[in-house]
Amino acid sequence: MFKNKIPLCPRCDVIDHVVLINTTQKVGTVVGGVAGAASVWAGGESGALAGAALGSFVPVVGTGIGAVTGGLAGAIAGFFAGATVGNRVGQHIDAEVIGRYRCNRCGAEFEV
Ligand SMILES: [Zn+2]
Repeated sequence: MFKNKIPLCPRCDVIDHVVLINTTQKVGTVVGGVAGAASVWAGGESGALAGAALGSFVPVVGTGIGAVTGGLAGAIAGFFAGATVGNRVGQHIDAEVIGRYRCNRCGAEFEV
């Protein structure tokens, strides 16, 4: 993506095998996803309510099933929304703040 920002490997002196170590990006994706799912589950519950309303066409049993599936769908949507944000934030931190790179040719890890 930002290929011009990737540094040369200090040992090989080439850019071809150097990759950004994106630890924070992975952590951010998970944390963001969980936070997004939790916030939807705890805060909105609109998915559960919508599911319950739909499920109410089939009395009692349908209401419960509808609430669970509706809440689950909302939580999953929240997870992916949060994961996307967390992924971007983590990627930014990895590239701009931490700036650790690894060369896949010689295995060297270095900071810039
Ligand atoms: Zn190297």
